[in-house]
Amino acid sequence: MEITKNVHLLTATKGSYSYLVLGNEPVLVDTSFPGRTAAILHALKDLGMEPKDLAHIVLTHHDVDHVGNAKALAAITGADLWASAEEVPFIEGRVKERGARKLLKVLVRVDRPQGMRTYEAGKQIGGLEVIPTPGHTPGHVSLLFGDVLLAGDLVQTKKGLLRLAPGLFTWDKETLRRSLRKVGKLQFHWVCPAHGEPVQRGSQWETLA
Ligand SMILES: [Zn+2]
Repeated sequence: MEITKNVHLLTATKGSYSYLVLGNEPVLVDTSFPGRTAAILHALKDLGMEPKDLAHIVLTHHDVDHVGNAKALAAITGADLWASAEEVPFIEGRVKERGARKLLKVLVRVDRPQGMRTYEAGKQIGGLEVIPTPGHTPGHVSLLFGDVLLAGDLVQTKKGLLRLAPGLFTWDKETLRRSLRKVGKLQFHWVCPAHGEPVQRGSQWETLA
């Protein structure tokens, strides 16, 4: 489903949405829950793309519902797989999780990629700008493409309204609030979260932080 020019929500990833952004190179943002590799490839095909056309896969953070198909998709497409330096050890399974994530890691098995590339603040990947937005996890990032904020789990939406992501999974509440305030100063019109449908920003961001 095209949300706005060159930004596609992959409906087959409902529950934890992936987005395909067709900037100066095709970029997949997040890879949803395990078991959806074929569905994601099918969605690319529906948009007229061959697997090898995908240039980059960018992970907003290390949770299993975002990393689920990263290894398989990177192998099949040959795309570069990116995450922030803080998130890579978690994604690759080299550090222990705490709290609710510890349980999640046991319940949802993920084939973990290795040897990922790391991005940093302000870096452009296929035309998307990396905006560090820690709080949900230590190295969570959002991505800015034109007037679209690809928000990962910085926020979620419910019935057309912006909401904070579930507090149970918040790594650090105060850091999250700082990120929300920082992002609030940026110019964008659309908010595309992993959980919930995309919404127009309007004056909603100001109610969050
Ligand atoms: Zn998530």
